[in-house]
Amino acid sequence: MAEIQITNLRKEFGNFVAVENSSFTVRDGEFFMLLGPSGCGKTTTLRMMAGLELPTAGQIFIDGEDVTQRRARDRDIAFVFQMYALYPHFNVFKNLAYPLTSQGMAKKDVMEKIDQVADILDIRHLLKSPVSRLSGGDRQRVALGRAIVREPKAFFMDEPLGALDAEFREQMAGELRGLHDRMGSTTIYVTHDQLEAMQMGDKIVVMNHGVIEQFGSPQEIYDWPATKFVADFIGSPAMNFLPLKTDISKGDSKVELGGQEFFIPEALEDFSGDIFFGVRPEHVSFDDSSLFRASVDAVEYLGTTQLITLQSACGSLKARIESGRQIEVGAKLGLSFDRRTITLFNSNSGKALLNRENHQVIRHG
Ligand code: ATP
Repeated sequence: MAEIQITNLRKEFGNFVAVENSSFTVRDGEFFMLLGPSGCGKTTTLRMMAGLELPTAGQIFIDGEDVTQRRARDRDIAFVFQMYALYPHFNVFKNLAYPLTSQGMAKKDVMEKIDQVADILDIRHLLKSPVSRLSGGDRQRVALGRAIVREPKAFFMDEPLGALDAEFREQMAGELRGLHDRMGSTTIYVTHDQLEAMQMGDKIVVMNHGVIEQFGSPQEIYDWPATKFVADFIGSPAMNFLPLKTDISKGDSKVELGGQEFFIPEALEDFSGDIFFGVRPEHVSFDDSSLFRASVDAVEYLGTTQLITLQSACGSLKARIESGRQIEVGAKLGLSFDRRTITLFNSNSGKALLNRENHQVIRHG
């Protein structure tokens, strides 16, 4: 299997910069997600890594070897596009055999490989069926099988579950992750779906407008978003953001919310004193003694939890609490925040002022 490294990768289409100065390493055996909204440069990054697109600048290494100028077929990777890229007039066996026979593999070895893959994907009973008669899920498995039989160094997948309905998508996501764990393969996976990325990924790169906003494990990205964009993009509903001001001309190094003080670690160059106070809905607590008051605009029952929409003097926010608690629309409640769970963002740059390193001092006040 493979370790893949990209350094300072850039792609221009005419005057438009689709990917800007991207660098990251995908470790051997990792399930690695490229995540971001439509048009942010995920597919372009993946295509450059796969050798389907030449970078304008930067380098790509597979197992330490510079493959930047090498064509896709010489990189020993398997690209799994949106599923169903199968030969409809062949049966399943022939679809699986084709990548091998076209490489000149002996019939006996082909049989052996297909035997293994049929077991891994549980499609032995389908080998003689025409592809055109298969269900969506079975086609998906066969498409994966075609990538697996080649035993590539890495799998590259571009929104492979994009065409599926929600329920089936979730099932296939679980199957893909299970398959990855059994095979120990390096997988690079493009998605715009943050839940899919969190559910399946070991590591996530979050992209926006061609730039990497953050790189880390799902938990690092959720707990310690590096930017307001990431905090907003990850989590459903998104993090709450309340605009607050400090007077930096007076050397003020804290913001205050209803009597609670939150310290700002350092005044950055582009820091004007305007801050976004960020708190996830599950970290908003109700506290009668708090001076920070908000009125209840809406209550949405979600089964195990309920989502409360609140209106405060600093703007609206959402709280997620256990569903047993009775909350009335129109009620006025006090809100409090645990320092360990909040984040502050520089409103100019969108960068987080609290990070893993400085949180001991700051979050614990
Ligand atoms: P999506 O999920 O919508 O495919 P993406 O994040 O994968 O989004 P890319 O497909 O990488 O985005 O495209 C990034 C940007 O580059 C987009 O604005 C797109 O229009 C542009 N782009 C991609 N390929 C080309 C091309 N061949 N010529 C010109 N512009 C392109």
